[in-house]
Amino acid sequence: MITLALSKGRIFEETLPLLEAVGIRVTDDPERSRKLILATDRHDTRVIIVRASDVPTYVQYGAADIGVAGSDVLQEAEAKGGNDGLYRPLDLGIGRCRMMVAVPDAFDYESAVRRGARIRVATKYVSIAREHFAAKGMHVDLIKLYGSMELAPLIGLADAIVDLVSTGATLKANRLRAVEEIGAVSSRLIVNQAALKTKRPAVQALIDAFAAAVR
Ligand code: ATP
Ligand code: MG
Repeated sequence: MITLALSKGRIFEETLPLLEAVGIRVTDDPERSRKLILATDRHDTRVIIVRASDVPTYVQYGAADIGVAGSDVLQEAEAKGGNDGLYRPLDLGIGRCRMMVAVPDAFDYESAVRRGARIRVATKYVSIAREHFAAKGMHVDLIKLYGSMELAPLIGLADAIVDLVSTGATLKANRLRAVEEIGAVSSRLIVNQAALKTKRPAVQALIDAFAAAVR
């Protein structure tokens, strides 16, 4: 049995066409059913639905053989010192966006940087943010949030946020502006290293098929 870990929403939807190209059709719809283990038209392949930030954990411990995770999630786990036992063979080119620092329109970020001011930054990506500001030599107080980061500066919780931006529409709607890019983000295929050995033919065939589908 091959178990593929995906997260609901964007990653699931953008992985589906790749899976079809690989020759795997998921026969349950996670948006409509409450099932967390989804069948496919291959009796030896199943899909599990987990939180986006939990995908590397399932693959790392071998509960899933393979998974799709954002490079943001992988980078955050790595900055925390995790991700052992994971092989990352492929950039799938989906879930593309950028990790940005954003502030309210009225906040003079550039001046705060010049003055060496200590600022408060709210983010889900505390480790990535810590490394980013440390590299700039900036002193920041980091506040961990689990969602709706855009709200934090509007309500006085923080001066700035570190978040993912694609079109910028959410920032604009909340009168925020992106002031710094931390890096490009896309989704990666991740593979359990032990599964690559013990289930080599099946797992390697899947990696090759994904590689062909991406090209
Ligand atoms: P949860 O809902 O479980 O808290 P989440 O909010 O991080 O997780 P999503 O918003 O679906 O879940 O994000 C999952 C992944 O999709 C992210 O880790 C990132 O790699 C990618 N992603 C997030 N936002 C965007 C975006 N605006 N454009 C493109 N890809 C994105
Ligand atoms: Mg979400």
